[in-house]
Amino acid sequence: MRALVYTAPGHVELQDVDEPVANEGEVVVQVKASGICGSELHGFRHVGFRVPPLVMGHEFAGVTTDGRRVAVNPLVACGECDLCRRARPYLCRTRAVLGIHRPGAFAERVVVPEELLCDLPADLSFEAGAVVEPLANGVHAWGLVRADEPERVAVVGGGTIGLVCLLVAKRNGAHVTVVDLAPERLEWAERLGADRTAVSLDGEYDAVFDAVGAGPTRAASVAALRPGGTAVWLGLLAPEPGFDALDLVRMEKRVTGSFAYTRQEFAEAAELARTTDVSWAQSFPLEAAADVFMELADGRTDVVKALVRP
Ligand SMILES: [Zn+2]
Ligand SMILES: [Zn+2]
Repeated sequence: MRALVYTAPGHVELQDVDEPVANEGEVVVQVKASGICGSELHGFRHVGFRVPPLVMGHEFAGVTTDGRRVAVNPLVACGECDLCRRARPYLCRTRAVLGIHRPGAFAERVVVPEELLCDLPADLSFEAGAVVEPLANGVHAWGLVRADEPERVAVVGGGTIGLVCLLVAKRNGAHVTVVDLAPERLEWAERLGADRTAVSLDGEYDAVFDAVGAGPTRAASVAALRPGGTAVWLGLLAPEPGFDALDLVRMEKRVTGSFAYTRQEFAEAAELARTTDVSWAQSFPLEAAADVFMELADGRTDVVKALVRP
């Protein structure tokens, strides 16, 4: 079968690879749409979690060999440890992600543990199904602040993760400011319901979502909190914390990371996708995937979310 293979740092290419074989408890999914994630654009140039040769792709939807239309939760956990038993498989110490630690979905077919299949609502397209994974990140991030009932919310970064945070915050009735330097991203944020857009973070907020993850955006996300507010960090650009620790102590501000989602949050995201505008996702054939990948990595295109359609 054909697959887009990450062959060496900075390189992806379309190759013929062996057909994947399902073991017990696994199924083969024919991939219909698979989103290119910002973490892949960054990760394939920096030596780290992804080891070539690798078929990436962890945001996807498709059809099983027996005809089920599914979105796939890409997070594989042990299912037995203390955290898995407490319904937190995303924190499992031995977690693995399809497309990072195992072959992913930039291919015609992919092997998936059966328990990770999430049935697509009948009226949901495969494109929308591929957006369930990023949406689930937004559902989880909101869950970390839900108990505070945040009203004034800021989202730093108007890429896919920033937009899903915006969408979920709006569903929950918040007044949302989206911050980004790129005017076309702020336009998308406005189309998707942002109450205000800005090129830098000003004002005071009950919760700030940092979907960039650089030292300066982290510092700003904490500085702009009201006393007792929470900064939720989803971005993974750089390791620097950036914030003023004394401010954290004196104002009881909180900072939490947000990574992945529970099975239930993934299912909630599939439901949410039914009534969400996903016109910011644009499809490309597998043959074009290598070019699209490089264009995105080089910042030569302003496509928010590119979907590969094998
Ligand atoms: Zn992703
Ligand atoms: Zn576990």
